[in-house]
Amino acid sequence: MNDIEQLLLPILLVEKGLIRSCNQVFTEQVGYNEMEIVGRELQEIITLSEQSNEAGGSLDALLARVGLSNQISLISATVTNNYFYDMPIQLHCQAIEGRSDSFRVCFRILENKSIDPITTLPNGWAISSRSKHLLKNQDDRKNNFVLIFFNVDNFSTINFRYGFDIGDDYLQVIAKKLQSVVENDNLVVRFNNAKFGILVENHACLSTEKFNTHIRNICQRLCQISEEPLKLLRGVEVCKSFSIGVSEQSIHYNNFHAIEIAGETAMLQAKKYSESKYHFSTSQTLVDMLSHKLIIDALPSAIEQNKIQIYYQPQYEIKSDKLIGFEALSRWHHEALGNITPDVFVGIAEEIGLHFDFDLWVFRQVCSQIVTWRKQGLQIPKIAINISFKTLEMTTFVDRLKTVIEQTQCPTEFVELEITETASAKNLASLNNNIVRVKELGISIAIDDFGAGYSSLSMIREFHASLDKLKLDRSLIRNICNTEVDREFTRQIIKLSQVLDVHILAEGVEDKEQKDMLHSLDCDQAQGYYFAKPMTKSGAEQLIKEITN
Ligand code: C2E
Ligand code: CA
Ligand code: CA
Repeated sequence: MNDIEQLLLPILLVEKGLIRSCNQVFTEQVGYNEMEIVGRELQEIITLSEQSNEAGGSLDALLARVGLSNQISLISATVTNNYFYDMPIQLHCQAIEGRSDSFRVCFRILENKSIDPITTLPNGWAISSRSKHLLKNQDDRKNNFVLIFFNVDNFSTINFRYGFDIGDDYLQVIAKKLQSVVENDNLVVRFNNAKFGILVENHACLSTEKFNTHIRNICQRLCQISEEPLKLLRGVEVCKSFSIGVSEQSIHYNNFHAIEIAGETAMLQAKKYSESKYHFSTSQTLVDMLSHKLIIDALPSAIEQNKIQIYYQPQYEIKSDKLIGFEALSRWHHEALGNITPDVFVGIAEEIGLHFDFDLWVFRQVCSQIVTWRKQGLQIPKIAINISFKTLEMTTFVDRLKTVIEQTQCPTEFVELEITETASAKNLASLNNNIVRVKELGISIAIDDFGAGYSSLSMIREFHASLDKLKLDRSLIRNICNTEVDREFTRQIIKLSQVLDVHILAEGVEDKEQKDMLHSLDCDQAQGYYFAKPMTKSGAEQLIKEITN
């Protein structure tokens, strides 16, 4: 090996299997300083790769061979850096003249994915390797470190406005600021874009309370960075807000992924509620996160294996108390998670793109039920099925409905679709077309949750010719007897339904007073706990038999 190589490559001096010294290049590229490394066994940080192992056995055996043959070159191995990240290397070992137990071990790093090229900070690989190492070695009651997630809000606007060189400069300046806020032994990394992570270890073994205070102090100092504009290249000054999320130390996480999601979720909450504020994840975040994941895993098979049940809630004409319909509502009981409400699993179905299959599954169940009941001679009323807006805008939706109708032989005059407008509607042309085609099939259409959320007047104007019913949202009915505004709103919506010549049904009617008030306002139909809660299919069957006998 020549002098230049010695200057460029990391070198360790090893005596009797123990590291005696290292050069500066080693400290720079692998991260340990001399004090941390001297006296440790070589195999703590260098591992021969499998094929080298086969050729020469262990590191000890390799050095013994070097003792005999003086030097051995280009052995494949890995070196574990101070983040516990393993980098592939090519090893070169040389015996020190005149001695059989002392060696010069130098290596070339073949690949180091743990460094971010823009800021030269370590990156996500580094923080995950180090966290995994800490998790492996912690006592099993609590994590002795926290992860702080730090994101610059709307970072991309800097690139758009000033160019990528200024964007890169900003990242470098922020990286230095972050390093200056935390002590040297805390790991600061850049994940991607303007998302950074800080791993704070509880080296001093502080109590949970004191460690939390320490973390809060760090977060406050991070927030303070946003108060002053940062000076960048070409005299540009930029002032940005941050979102900061912290994985709570007192919660026990057993894998890096859980900590990562907890910290990121807390960061998103911080972003939602405020500017340059920090947010700690809570045990609820963890429970929500885990159950969310379990639901995502279990939902597809629950649909496939018919584990979701359909309940039926009766709907009545107010003036005569006559049963005029049922609304089909899905129920899911999961062995481990208990009853999962449809609000939750329908939302998740949309999130993972399963809404189309799910809505069609419900549609098929209800159509089959209608046919069965009719075969039994029951005089059933119309049954309403909830269809997500996202499903309704799918281009193949109506064809799929037609297939189910043909296969089940269900007469369409017994079916109604309830739709709720959501912000996510994108494909308005196909939505419009589908609503008209659904009507042509002989299926009725009701607008759900009218008067709340997104169900808007513009939608009614657009589709009024295809509508059969407006469903007044429960939130309006709740206070109808004691809040003048809600009563007036309801009165006006009822008038609108008369203008449009569609039925109007009040949802969530819980007592007689509300029912009487709705009657006096000329509302024609109602549904709610006052009349009946959603019931099983045999409950519904029983009810139909009772009223027709
Ligand atoms: P929604 O369509 O507005 O359904 C009415 C909800 O109000 C039902 O909740 C029902 O049980 C509840 N409810 C009825 N009467 C009363 C009352 O008097 N008081 C109170 N407090 N609540 C009442 P549920 O079954 O939990 O369903 C929640 C939402 O989940 C539904 O709201 C609907 O948007 C969705 N959903 C339920 N089943 C399905 C389904 O099969 N497919 C789709 N796409 N969505 C469904
Ligand atoms: Ca509904
Ligand atoms: Ca509703």
